[in-house]
Amino acid sequence: MRLVLMGPPGAGKGTQAKRLAERFKMTHLSSGDILRAERGSGSDLGVKLKSFMDRGALVPDDIVVSIMAAAVAAQASGLLLDGFPRTVPQAVSLDEQLNKLHRPLEAVLVIDTPATMLLERITGRRSCPQCGRVYHVKYLPVPADGLCETCQSKLVQRADDTAEAVSKRLDAYRRQTAPVIVYYTKAGRKVITVDGAASPDQVTARVVEALRVL
Ligand code: AMP
Repeated sequence: MRLVLMGPPGAGKGTQAKRLAERFKMTHLSSGDILRAERGSGSDLGVKLKSFMDRGALVPDDIVVSIMAAAVAAQASGLLLDGFPRTVPQAVSLDEQLNKLHRPLEAVLVIDTPATMLLERITGRRSCPQCGRVYHVKYLPVPADGLCETCQSKLVQRADDTAEAVSKRLDAYRRQTAPVIVYYTKAGRKVITVDGAASPDQVTARVVEALRVL
């Protein structure tokens, strides 16, 4: 299966992507994770990425497209793209690349979640900088010692999970990413929308049911 997973920040894309990739044997490519790894490497490119990412702005298309094209080309079969494409030019580049590889997308899955839920979900999030495990001050309580239960690293709030950065990310989603759904719809792609206002398990069940049409 080759899918693009879309939805606003805080919709639960990361959680669902991990589960779906395992269940349907797809490689999960998260542009956010790939960019964070590059940012953390201390390279010149990483320093440049930090200036966009920490304030909740999108990284310029040319940079993201070249990084993601390399990751996509390295995958032979099932693919789950999470967080990419986020602009129409990125979607066009991805289509061109996949068409050349004779591996077109089969569907676009959108996790739709009301804006009021997103802010609370993201600003309460605490993440492990080492293994990526995610906690939430209200829904997935942070251990009393503030350390990750998997790898004992000190949990942090991502610089782009603060209220100020989140409102910028939501604005970027509305202005730059929502048009990608319109692009795919107009191109006649199968766009499957699932209501994300539920527990992670309920959303997974809805997604699995919705993917039966493929
Ligand atoms: P995420 O973990 O998907 O929320 O991504 C974190 C940050 O990485 C975003 O706020 C952007 O700064 C950057 N980013 C991730 N994916 C993309 C993309 N496809 N295009 C531009 N910037 C991106």
